[in-house]
Amino acid sequence: MAESNKFLCEACGQSYPLDTREWRCSCGGLFELQTWPQLDVELVDPLQPGLWRYQAWLPLDPAWEPVSLGEGNTPLLPVEWAGPQCLIKLESLAPTGSFKDRGTAVLVTALRGLGIERVVEDSSGNAGASLAAYAANAGITCEICVPDTAAGPKVAQMTAYGAEVIQIRGKRGYAALAAWAAAAHGAYYASHVYNPFFLAGTETVAYEMWEQLQGTAPAAVVVPVGNGTLLLGAYRGFSRLRQAGLIDRVPRVFGVQAAACPPIYEAFRQGLDAVQPVPCEATLAGGIAIAQPARGRQVLAAVRDTGGAVLAVQEETIGPARLALAQRGFHVENTSAVAFAVLPAMAEAYLSPGEGPVAILLTGHGLKTCPH
Ligand SMILES: [Zn+2]
Repeated sequence: MAESNKFLCEACGQSYPLDTREWRCSCGGLFELQTWPQLDVELVDPLQPGLWRYQAWLPLDPAWEPVSLGEGNTPLLPVEWAGPQCLIKLESLAPTGSFKDRGTAVLVTALRGLGIERVVEDSSGNAGASLAAYAANAGITCEICVPDTAAGPKVAQMTAYGAEVIQIRGKRGYAALAAWAAAAHGAYYASHVYNPFFLAGTETVAYEMWEQLQGTAPAAVVVPVGNGTLLLGAYRGFSRLRQAGLIDRVPRVFGVQAAACPPIYEAFRQGLDAVQPVPCEATLAGGIAIAQPARGRQVLAAVRDTGGAVLAVQEETIGPARLALAQRGFHVENTSAVAFAVLPAMAEAYLSPGEGPVAILLTGHGLKTCPH
């Protein structure tokens, strides 16, 4: 199926072959995959591990052998707090310690299938560590451009997997420019932000929750948002389930940013369709400190389509929220904790008392951000 698949520009409709070295359309538009399989319940394969039980639902050529490190099938557990019923989805338990492994497993499966031998990516840490691991497993040479503020444990992780790590001084965006320059010299830009195969992999978080909730959807999903790939994956996954008649409604989707770097929150608050860059200050939630999110327009549309919202949490609430989760036995990184920190304000403004369950996506492991 997918060998005949194509990338389509969402803005102008121009098509590109899957092995193009372009990573967005010449008009600046984002790529989407042209062809998607139907979500037929009969095609879910319970004998396959993790997210590969949904392999037939993914836009992958069946001839492509999965590149897998054991991703998917993360626990969905109740967590006690003072408000509506709350479940946490422990994406922090993925093979490299973050949700990125869902997207990377699918992306690298496609890249190996397409014969790509050398990749480059820019990342504040988790996406780079994930790509380094999967590239190592697939025998693909990997180069990661990181801002020099990237957390030490994440850089150590990339290096351990054998990636070449290039530290770029200055703003987060400079690391992206460095990766684009490397891509212009022959490396494949394996971007977790731009590549539609990555986004396709993140949709499996919705499929898993649907099965874990016995064929239903949560009332709301709460996701830390930087570039927005997990939020969009959850939204698109639940939307496909609804189109297939497998659920009645898509959960309300709530994105959470740090008030120190809130471009999508500001656009939502002002009723804008597109995100304007905002000045960003240092934040504990470095994994979502993205001043110019390329998928900001899509995130705003997804949130509004579901009756959700984009919220921002004050810096001083992030550490205590991380501690509160740790004291319940869940050690996650500060970036993940924003989704727990937002709960009281979100419940007061948006949830009715009996409404639930609310699913909180805890995106990355606490071991990635020591010392605290
Ligand atoms: Zn275009």
